[in-house]
Amino acid sequence: MAALPKAILFDLDDTLIRAYAQPEEAWTRLLHVFAAHLDAHEPEAIERVRGTVMAEARAFWSDPAVAAKWRLDIPGARRLSVRRGLAKLGRADDALADRIADAFTELRRNEYRLYPDAHATVDALRDAGVRLALVTNGASETQRAKIERFELAHRFHHIQIEGEFGQGKPELAVYRHALERLDVAPGEAWMVGDNYEWEVVAPQQLGMCGIWYDPFGAGVPAPYLRDATAQPTRIIKRLSELVE
Ligand SMILES: [Mg+2]
Repeated sequence: MAALPKAILFDLDDTLIRAYAQPEEAWTRLLHVFAAHLDAHEPEAIERVRGTVMAEARAFWSDPAVAAKWRLDIPGARRLSVRRGLAKLGRADDALADRIADAFTELRRNEYRLYPDAHATVDALRDAGVRLALVTNGASETQRAKIERFELAHRFHHIQIEGEFGQGKPELAVYRHALERLDVAPGEAWMVGDNYEWEVVAPQQLGMCGIWYDPFGAGVPAPYLRDATAQPTRIIKRLSELVE
């Protein structure tokens, strides 16, 4: 096993579990179910609805202040995005939009999956004496349900959820609090996760090592390519690389 730090902070969504990544295929599948309601009988028509709804969702989440508020109510945010998407397509129908959004929330929830090497990696790190925290954004109820479903609670020395702590990543207070709870200095800890800003840029500002989890090989996001101070300490494609 390579040299390990005193402590590691793990992200939850799309790091330990597959949750929200790559939504295109899920949207296409779901919209086929609503094809008759949407009068979208050809694949091109489904594609148009999918593209419009996803563009509305991207626009919605691109405002950091809006995102910070609605992260605590993702089903509600989905309803708004689908309502706006249908309106843009000239088919404004809030009741139908809400049914579609809620069905998407349900479909995604049913398809959350633990990454196959998550338990083994976390357990090996803990056995090696590394102090472990789970640091996740989102509502208490939603995140606690995932933590229970995927048997994660007992694996961590500290669990910190945005909806309970009162602040979320990338607020520096979030990392500082977790480090304090683990009783380590920033330079003794890694942050591991899939969100470049939350798990590389912000924690590295504090002096932590940012380990970017990039399972789909997306590569460093364009805005950061030429920013020497925002390069991850390490990029991994599988969690188990941490203990190899
Ligand atoms: Mg994540």
